[in-house]
Amino acid sequence: MSFENLIGFIREQFQTNEFIPLHAPVFKGNEKRYVAETIDSTFVSSVGPFVDRFENDMASYTGSPRAVATVNGTAALHIALKLAGVAEGHLVLTQPLSFIATCNAISYCHATPVFIDVSLVNLGLCPVALEAWLTEHARIDDDGVCRSKAENKIISACVPMHTFGHPADIDGLLDVCQRWHIALVEDAAESLGSFYKGKHTGTYGLVGAISFNGNKIMTTGGGGMILTNQALGQKAKHLTTTAKVPHPYEYVHDEVGYNYRLPNINAALGCAQLEQIETFIAAKRQLADRYDAVLSGSNLRFVKEGEHCRANYWLNAVICENRQERDALLKTSNEQGVMTRPVWELMSNLPLYQHCLHGQLENAQWLADRIVNLPSSVPESFHEQ
Ligand SMILES: *Cc1c(COP(=O)(O)O)cnc(C)c1O
Repeated sequence: MSFENLIGFIREQFQTNEFIPLHAPVFKGNEKRYVAETIDSTFVSSVGPFVDRFENDMASYTGSPRAVATVNGTAALHIALKLAGVAEGHLVLTQPLSFIATCNAISYCHATPVFIDVSLVNLGLCPVALEAWLTEHARIDDDGVCRSKAENKIISACVPMHTFGHPADIDGLLDVCQRWHIALVEDAAESLGSFYKGKHTGTYGLVGAISFNGNKIMTTGGGGMILTNQALGQKAKHLTTTAKVPHPYEYVHDEVGYNYRLPNINAALGCAQLEQIETFIAAKRQLADRYDAVLSGSNLRFVKEGEHCRANYWLNAVICENRQERDALLKTSNEQGVMTRPVWELMSNLPLYQHCLHGQLENAQWLADRIVNLPSSVPESFHEQ
């Protein structure tokens, strides 16, 4: 299909001749009512009933034993890594095909990423590549700790990312991580509402992190959530609330903590958005079906959900034949007011992380040369449904 036809198809879906963004939020539920409640009550800040409710609602939606709200997804990832024991000098295995936040959180722990290739099918960390790198470069010592052969550095965690809402091969990753004594921390920032074998992404690993930034599938303005078990959830709450020892009026703190709390006013927005998540996903899945149908038989391969997966289709993606075709699609669509985007520059190519250890990264580079994200908002026609 020609780019012109694709652009026409996109305009039809969003029924506008104006600029079409990649992803815009939708506020058609109780958002105004709940936010107004926080203002009327004066409880707009760190403490308030919507924070507790948002955490409970998110725990029950995802099936996580515990959910702890944070000020953004990066903060959730940072604490998730700390809960997994990531500390200064450690190595953390992750994928080069991700948003910078994954590596930022690793760096905040004074640890260093090791880049492992992704799967061409689900765009997530590849368990075969992970196993291959570990076999060549790591060992498990007598103390049961996994270390790198070259520098004797502790390899404490592995952070796959569920790219654009497509679950990675979680069973494969869990298996490798268990055998190598490495904690699995899921960057589920993009995958709220994505399930793997009927279980929510972010609840397979020791800890998972979700983001509610304005461009994600639902938003709190800015916000995030840590998904984990009861014991680590307790620790997460402590660390994100300045490590204050609970007391009615005394201020005592027992370690270096963080002010990573999600304000009540943001949580109010989150509660209203979460009430609509399945409506959003139904609409996005229908849009994805239409993209898939219209692109079938064309040069552009539409990225579809994998076996045993229910993807949230946060961002629709196509894989172009080559980099030239990718660049032409990006240029044509953006010039015509239809926003499309390439995938992030690979982390392993950034000067910041160029020196880091890595395995073969052929798939990641191949994908980076070809991926284009297409407009993925919930179309207006679904809003009233
Ligand atoms: C959005 C995102 C984050 C973090 O989100 P913020 O809420 O913006 O801090 C982390 N990882 C990935 C892959 C993301 O897409």
